Amino acid sequence: MAACAPVLLIRSIMQVRLLLCAVLLLSPLAAQADDHKLTVVASFSIIADMARQVAGSDADITSIVPAATDAHAYEPTAQDAKKLTKADVILLNGLGFEGWFERLAAATGDKKTIFTLTKGIAPLMHGTTPDPHAWQDVSNAKIYVANIRDALIAKDPAYAAHFTQNAERYISELEALDAWAKTEIAKIPPAKRRAITSHDALGYFAKAYGLELIPAQGISTEGELSAAGLAHLIDQVRSEKVNAIFLENMSNPRLMQQLAEESGAKIGGEIYSDALSAATGDGTTYISLFRHNVSIITTALEK
Ligand code: ZN
Repeated sequence: MAACAPVLLIRSIMQVRLLLCAVLLLSPLAAQADDHKLTVVASFSIIADMARQVAGSDADITSIVPAATDAHAYEPTAQDAKKLTKADVILLNGLGFEGWFERLAAATGDKKTIFTLTKGIAPLMHGTTPDPHAWQDVSNAKIYVANIRDALIAKDPAYAAHFTQNAERYISELEALDAWAKTEIAKIPPAKRRAITSHDALGYFAKAYGLELIPAQGISTEGELSAAGLAHLIDQVRSEKVNAIFLENMSNPRLMQQLAEESGAKIGGEIYSDALSAATGDGTTYISLFRHNVSIITTALEK
């Protein structure tokens, strides 16, 4: 064994050299072909999809927090820091949503690459704390898209016409989505427009579309609901005749199931709150996510 080791070592050095030669030979070609492509890193899956709609095939877009994953409780990895250093454009939600980003941002240095997509939005306030879930109102999503368009143009002005055209098309799709959501929710009798959600992710949604959604947890998913908090919710469900409880695609459903069992309210289904669905789900884009949520909510509450 010991005698073989130097031979193996020499062999692997040669392989590495060959590999390096191949990379060096190929890389000028690869760089030429994709020269204009921007590297875009989004903080979470929903804004990564919006960026894909605006950039089309003219950017490589990745998300730090993957689909079907809770962005509030996310723990960034060394891989994420590496992604940021290579990014031309970093897209953040802002309003305190990415609590983990500050730690990671130290790795990037260049503040010019960071764009906050809630810029220009009037946030819903909980006392002095802004509610970050602004994308749950489609009229805000249109502002996100305009901010993404401007970020891409700032970094790649040669493609301005292309990004502008894509953003226009996407914004008109969002306008149709907004009108459809309003029509659908208007079909629910006003007295039935009341439900429980896992955490306070749908404040903008409730306000824009005329629903009362009572969150079991606050605007972050961090921290556990106390026994007293659960007992209070059970009372509220019974006394206010809330008939549906919605689960979320990124949180532990155990608590909500217990609430349903003890209060007698039914589980209305799973909504997509802070993340796109897994690839097998029906919320793999922002538009399909939103259509899914509106359908689940109207179906459960109309009954
Ligand atoms: Zn949230």
